[in-house]
Amino acid sequence: MTCVEFDALWERSGGACEICRVPFDGIAGNRVNIDHKPPRYEDVRGLLCVTCNTWVVAAHERGKRMDDRAAAYLANSWYRTHGPGALTVGLPRPDRRSRREKVCAQETAEALRRATDAYRQAIERRDRHRRELAEAIVRADAEGGRQVDIVRTTGYTREHIRRIVAEAKTP
Ligand SMILES: [Zn+2]
Repeated sequence: MTCVEFDALWERSGGACEICRVPFDGIAGNRVNIDHKPPRYEDVRGLLCVTCNTWVVAAHERGKRMDDRAAAYLANSWYRTHGPGALTVGLPRPDRRSRREKVCAQETAEALRRATDAYRQAIERRDRHRRELAEAIVRADAEGGRQVDIVRTTGYTREHIRRIVAEAKTP
């Protein structure tokens, strides 16, 4: 859907749900929904609030009797006057995830961020400590410490000690 098409829809709606007339405020609970006639997303009927889009129109589609405003809205569907396919370009598919699913997805993402931060900090800490250990080994070595004492004190093998020192030298 193009910006021009959306602007025209918005103007028609007067910035409020076309059934219940509650103004769209952009916040959760009364966000603007682009209502379409299934199954074609191009067949845009108008702009509705979440509640009307979810319940009122869905009830109609299940064959329930609806109130006059909903009936008038459907009779005056945008696509009827503009023709099916008038709005053809890239209509966003509605996010059909439930509120609970969205909250869960947010929590999952938040947990992932926290774990990543903690992991990154742990790696930075480990690298810092490894540099400190390498420096201490080099110092002990320079001050004439015997390899066997360094091995005994650290509990690491000669090979491991050599690797710690070598890795600390590579940036
Ligand atoms: Zn509404």
